[in-house]
Amino acid sequence: MNKRVLIVEDEPDIVRGLTDALEFEGFDVVSKGFGKDGVRIMRERGADCVILDLMLPDINGYAVCEEIRAFNPLVPIIMLTARGEESDKIRGLDAGADDYVTKPFSVAELLARIKAMFRRLGRAAPVDEETFAIGSAVVDAKKHTLTRARKSWPLTFYEVELLKLLYERRATPVSRDEILEKIWGVDGRGHNRTVDNFIVKLRKMLEDDGKEPHHILTVYGHGYKLVP
Ligand code: CA
Repeated sequence: MNKRVLIVEDEPDIVRGLTDALEFEGFDVVSKGFGKDGVRIMRERGADCVILDLMLPDINGYAVCEEIRAFNPLVPIIMLTARGEESDKIRGLDAGADDYVTKPFSVAELLARIKAMFRRLGRAAPVDEETFAIGSAVVDAKKHTLTRARKSWPLTFYEVELLKLLYERRATPVSRDEILEKIWGVDGRGHNRTVDNFIVKLRKMLEDDGKEPHHILTVYGHGYKLVP
């Protein structure tokens, strides 16, 4: 059965471009111009992936994301954000989005990212254990949770994939470019902040003090190293 992608966006040109490209690749596409309609479609029919614009005529993308997350914690949600607003991106990730792309974006690139994501979703976990420990935290890759100090956080698709990759390569540095290529399916140019923004969020869960990390270390000019 074809994978279904839901687009929640009110700009007709973007919807048309994305729909054509996704249908050409064999996806079924449903699109809605209002946030509330997007939430309703997710409830009634579901989708395998959601592309969600931040600026919508009724409720904003963060609210849509939170509403969808309340009943569907795992569906991948990719948010379309305005250029250059790092705070928008972090807020989107905090609202439960898996990923974001910055407008104006290349349809080919977004498509590459979606295809890479589905490839990873379809593959058995390369980490043998379904759960693994990082410091005092326990990551459950199947349930998409991170538990530490009696608190539990839901993890999004990319957070799980990123933790798994860093854990597999623990104690050795992994470059941003490799992370982007392996997990996001894109080459590193122009995307350096993507990985960094995910690391910021993971450190909030893993570290006592996100500014003095002990488990996800920055390797300057290169990438990150996980120390369990
Ligand atoms: Ca819009």
